[in-house]
Amino acid sequence: MNANSPVRPPVPAKSGQIITDVSVTIFTWKDVPVLRYSDRNPATTGTSELGLVTIKTKDGLEGHSFLGSSIRGAYLDVVSLIRTLKPKLIGADPCAREKIWTDLHTVQRATTMRTIGAVDVALWDLAGKIANMPVCRMLGMSRDRIPCYASSPTYATIDEYVREAEGAKKAGYCGYKIHPPRAVEDAIDACKAIRKAVGPDFPLMIDTGGIHDFVESVRLGKAVEELGFLWFEDPLAEDDIYNYTKLRQKLTIPLMATEYSPGGFHSYANWIVAQATDYLRGDVAVKGGLTGILKAATLADAFRMNYEIHHGGNSLNNLAQLHAALSIRNTQYFEVLLPAAAQKYALIEDLEIDADGCLAAPQGPGLGAKIDFDLIKANTIEVLR
Ligand SMILES: [Mg+2]
Repeated sequence: MNANSPVRPPVPAKSGQIITDVSVTIFTWKDVPVLRYSDRNPATTGTSELGLVTIKTKDGLEGHSFLGSSIRGAYLDVVSLIRTLKPKLIGADPCAREKIWTDLHTVQRATTMRTIGAVDVALWDLAGKIANMPVCRMLGMSRDRIPCYASSPTYATIDEYVREAEGAKKAGYCGYKIHPPRAVEDAIDACKAIRKAVGPDFPLMIDTGGIHDFVESVRLGKAVEELGFLWFEDPLAEDDIYNYTKLRQKLTIPLMATEYSPGGFHSYANWIVAQATDYLRGDVAVKGGLTGILKAATLADAFRMNYEIHHGGNSLNNLAQLHAALSIRNTQYFEVLLPAAAQKYALIEDLEIDADGCLAAPQGPGLGAKIDFDLIKANTIEVLR
């Protein structure tokens, strides 16, 4: 900079804001369709509960996230968010996300990754409101839109998969992912029928949720390889790095493991060192919020690996992840888990793909969410603070 350059004002050391309150409003999610996404997930029971996490500043600004999903109610996590994390947040600078993220991990044994993720997402929403900028623009966008694939629940019949895959293609989705039935032969039959129905060029993926062992996974992997599937996700148990490495040497289809690796961001190191997967994967709920997945995406980029984002389990998580996906250059697709009634809840306007099967950048500061506060009020069970 020469002496005649315009002088820029110094960046303030602090945002001028401090966190003055953290609360979680627990509300009922009614009319969830009864289904499951793999043999290792519990089935939905027709009802669940979400938590609206609200982080407030001294000037009355609020950042929000949702805690919970249709298969995992917010009560499983919320108590430790209030007891363990809230004391670390009160009085903190909400824009010091890296410091807060590190601080929250020091008490990880007394809470869950899901609470850290929910707090981090709410802090990004708050930061965007302080900066008056959408989160994707704060992160630095690498694209305006991202192509989406539809992702199935687990069905009892091949017909149901075929009908859903054909519907997804017709609706404009850019791909379809199957969560297959447990038996390998049934899974192979379903994959063959879907490939036949959608044609040779439509992108297909498979996610077995870690239900098979090594021998079964080799058999299924070779079958989907021949059918031209794009990736083989979560073939083995999420702590079985040894057999993942062996499986990767047996197959040419890229392996994708796994959002459920035990631990948070730091757990990815072992997968890379062991050459156990072709892509890294995670979501804001299980890998410590946007901060966690952004770090992981950058780590993957250094190894020229893709970081493919798992669905977020609720509408605000998915919206947060769309901001991230638009900023991450080494990611290919955005996952839309079906059906909508088990994944979308409590936003006035939820994510809907455009005619090209893509999602565009959300508008408005922070996450740009239009939260349905009336619905939340009408279904509130209690407010924890
Ligand atoms: Mg998966």
